[in-house]
Amino acid sequence: MNIVQTVSNPRKGGRDESFFRTKGRISLRALFSGLVVLTFVLTLVITLLASYRSEKELLTERVLNTNFSESQRIGHTMNMLFVSIRTSLSAFTSEMAELISGDPERIMEELQQIHESSGYFESVFVAETGGKITQMHSYRENGDFGKIDERTLEAALKRSEPGLSVPYRDADAEMIVLMTEPFYNEEGVYLGVVGGTIRLEDPAVLGSLFGVQNGNEADSYYYVVDCEGKVIYHPDKTRIGEDLTDSPIVARILNGASGKTEVSDRKGRPFLVGYTFVPATRWGVIAQTPNSVLKQQQTEQIRGTLVAVLVPFLILVGGTLFLARRLAAPFVALADFVVRAADRPQEASIPVVRRHWNREADLLNRAVMRSVGEMKRQHRDLTHSALRDSLTGLPNRRALDEALEKLEGDNLPFSLLLIDIDRFKSVNDLHGHAAGDEVLRSVARLLEDTVDRGDLCGRYGGEEFVALLPGRSVAETYEMAERLRLAAAAHENALHIPVTVSIGAAISPQQSAQIEELFELADRALYRAKEDGRNRVVM
Ligand code: GH3
Ligand code: MG
Ligand code: MG
Repeated sequence: MNIVQTVSNPRKGGRDESFFRTKGRISLRALFSGLVVLTFVLTLVITLLASYRSEKELLTERVLNTNFSESQRIGHTMNMLFVSIRTSLSAFTSEMAELISGDPERIMEELQQIHESSGYFESVFVAETGGKITQMHSYRENGDFGKIDERTLEAALKRSEPGLSVPYRDADAEMIVLMTEPFYNEEGVYLGVVGGTIRLEDPAVLGSLFGVQNGNEADSYYYVVDCEGKVIYHPDKTRIGEDLTDSPIVARILNGASGKTEVSDRKGRPFLVGYTFVPATRWGVIAQTPNSVLKQQQTEQIRGTLVAVLVPFLILVGGTLFLARRLAAPFVALADFVVRAADRPQEASIPVVRRHWNREADLLNRAVMRSVGEMKRQHRDLTHSALRDSLTGLPNRRALDEALEKLEGDNLPFSLLLIDIDRFKSVNDLHGHAAGDEVLRSVARLLEDTVDRGDLCGRYGGEEFVALLPGRSVAETYEMAERLRLAAAAHENALHIPVTVSIGAAISPQQSAQIEELFELADRALYRAKEDGRNRVVM
């Protein structure tokens, strides 16, 4: 008889790798986190870019306006200054005609008065049409002749009208302009000019007009061009005298225009420029700012904005990441659980499902857990019924085979009892099949109740039962078999049908370690028990 059956395991141990392959797939957590961070960074970049552009326009407009109004302010002041300087000269010319033929000392007194009251001149002088300076008042002992350029004076005398010379460098390399006013006698004959030299860098003239200019190319600065387009004042002294007639701005100034614009210099560097034409001198005042200053300001502004938004940004990102993770958590746990459950269905314990605040997560979680629970229960029931005898509820032959297999595999000593009901056929014949079934049930219960803990009692087929008794000696085996036999004989079942059993016993490994052989031995013993008159134990 084939007792030991190999029970094939329906599942392989390892998980189906190709089915659960996740390489190249994005986890929900990473997806959520990535999306959140990407959204925030993009928003930040777009916001910064937009603000950068609008700020740039605003800043350009502001700088242009500032430069223009500054050039206007300075141009206006310069204009007033030269008008007032001229007034101090022209006030004197009406008296000059009279004085010229009189006392030379009076002329000197007048010159001194002009010189001291106006405070703008380096020296004041009278020159006659012949080309000679006849009187000069200067703070230097021998006069300031060195400051007067001969050809400039010649030109001024020739002009016979109020004039301001083109600025020139004097013997001390200082920028000087010559201001002249003509005077006439009573008959209207042109006699000469009253003139004064003005040192442009004098603090009273242009020196303090622009305030302190650091001459740094990277900053805003002012400069002045004369009526011929030459630089006459510049924070960078080396540029004084430079000819700028080819500059579009200077060309506009020479046409008497004022305004503001964005231009590039000769090196191609862009500037924001405000310029003003000064009528009294026919000069131009130019205020300009390199565009790089704007860039620098904007960079600082953006850095400031970044610093300001960084903390709220990080808090937002952190908060959203936290939320995203919380949202992903049930799906992640679910996925992990399902993989584990698919891997080892019986081992994976169903986690306690807490209610989730997200509706879909909550529904999905509970639905999955419920169906997995149901599946496990069904599996358990199926396994249970597959190993039980349906009539008596005792372990069936398959369960007994598994138990035997385990005992054999573990090399444990045990005793085998084959228990057969005596003349059971006649029970059926006398009382009917249903009564026979009832007797089977009651004998099963009795056997089950009589064996010790750790012993296993099962129905082997028909009216035949098996008891497996681990770790028993011969005497102990016999004692248990006797106890079962006596219990059956003494038991009174519900139908009051008297029942006895015969028992054949065999012991492993004393008699045989082979299960098949052991069964044969027990079977033979049982046969002998029947032969010897039934209701007995044979070993
Ligand atoms: P012995 O003392 O020699 O064992 O005599 P016996 O009549 O018990 O032996 P036999 O093998 O001739 O008869 C066994 C009977 O058990 C035959 C069969 O009808 C009955 N039987 C087997 N399974 C069941 C069952 O599930 N229910 C009922 N009511 N009877 C069963
Ligand atoms: Mg039988
Ligand atoms: Mg029988």
